[in-house]
Amino acid sequence: MIDTAYSRPSRWDSALSLLRYLRTHEAETTRTDIMSELGLSSSTMTDICARLRDLAMITEESIHSPRRGRPSLMVRPHPHGPVVGVIDVSHTHWRFALAQVDGTTHIQQVEHIPDRRSDFIQRLIDTLHHTGERYGDRLISVVVSVRSTVSANYRAHPVFLGWEDLDFSALADHMPHIKIRVENNASLSALAECHHVRGAGYGGAGVLLIELTTSLGGAFVSRGTVLDGATGSGSEFGHMPFGRPGAACRCGAVSCWATVADGYALARLLGDDDPTDPESYIHDVFDECLTDPGKLHSLVHDHDAHVTAFTAPAGHYAPREGTYASASGQRQGLGDAVQSIARGLGQGVAGLANALAPDVIVLGGQAITARRIASTTFHDTLTTGLMQIRRESPPRIVNAQFGAEGYLRGGALLAFDDALTPRLMDRWCHRYEQSRQPAFTARGVPHGSRHH
Ligand SMILES: [Zn+2]
Repeated sequence: MIDTAYSRPSRWDSALSLLRYLRTHEAETTRTDIMSELGLSSSTMTDICARLRDLAMITEESIHSPRRGRPSLMVRPHPHGPVVGVIDVSHTHWRFALAQVDGTTHIQQVEHIPDRRSDFIQRLIDTLHHTGERYGDRLISVVVSVRSTVSANYRAHPVFLGWEDLDFSALADHMPHIKIRVENNASLSALAECHHVRGAGYGGAGVLLIELTTSLGGAFVSRGTVLDGATGSGSEFGHMPFGRPGAACRCGAVSCWATVADGYALARLLGDDDPTDPESYIHDVFDECLTDPGKLHSLVHDHDAHVTAFTAPAGHYAPREGTYASASGQRQGLGDAVQSIARGLGQGVAGLANALAPDVIVLGGQAITARRIASTTFHDTLTTGLMQIRRESPPRIVNAQFGAEGYLRGGALLAFDDALTPRLMDRWCHRYEQSRQPAFTARGVPHGSRHH
């Protein structure tokens, strides 16, 4: 085939933009929406959609839109189109999801993480193997999300699983024909919050995500790109020395920010042993504060938090004598401990805001609850920690929209970004022409030409 005047990269540009629009927007997308967003003419749009339909990447369905009063074409993923896989590894379970070109993830399986590393890696290989058997070359990319530092060559360091090192390279060896990538979960979450239209940081030029889950982590997305340094392991914000001076952290360093703001820090403040699951520990303690409005009020003496947390349709909460009395029966120091965590979070977020100049700060996991319970402490600490120049137009602080789904959603986004390239589109063209052959033969017109 001879190329036209168009260079190979550019001839797919609009089609690839359309596919990216699908995975960053809601499922209910019409041709008109896409045209106006991408600034395409009607004829260009018709041409692109025809090509993508021919390639079995999208389908279109006519619907009547009350908004426009005339039929509109809904653009959807083709049922036989490309798929990507996302493996999300938490501290107890792993789950596997598939996504079509609209980026919506569908969970296929959820399992406990086995005790032995080799068993775990083998389970993942088996899963990818079966997926490959089922979908063939339609499976175009896989992203593994891990709640740990990720260094080059598929290596993660999930100390929370009791493994200093976890090597995923066997997955890539098993599927050499597709791109397999291992990423930190917070980076994926940040991608989803930043690039998806429903994300809390959508439209932000500098989006700082801070998540308190198994530990304290985050990511910074600068003009659409996650900053991850020379080895891809950057953005380990929880391990900056903002913490208790000299306190040993699980990462091997001392004084890390996490030592004043994560589940282990909360347990230490409350005199509890190190929790086996720091995320559910912090969740349970915060829950204890949230289930009783009176208790919360007397614990943190934080009127703003009290109002924010309980301005429910049911009406306003009026403190009663009895609730104060019930709070005195709580464990010692709960209010101080929760405020201490909120203060630790606020200080670190201020430091990062000074350094990185975000316009949006997205809080995720238990950081949302910490801010909710002790909002005055959090906001006072944050504001006083900001440089004057940052205080003049302070970053917007918002709650993450996707939660743990962000790891899957962000993973699918990244997997398609990795895989949907002009080269893949060329390959799919070839694939399509091959798959068309039998149909022509069946109708008695062989592929190619007999009739010279
Ligand atoms: Zn550390």
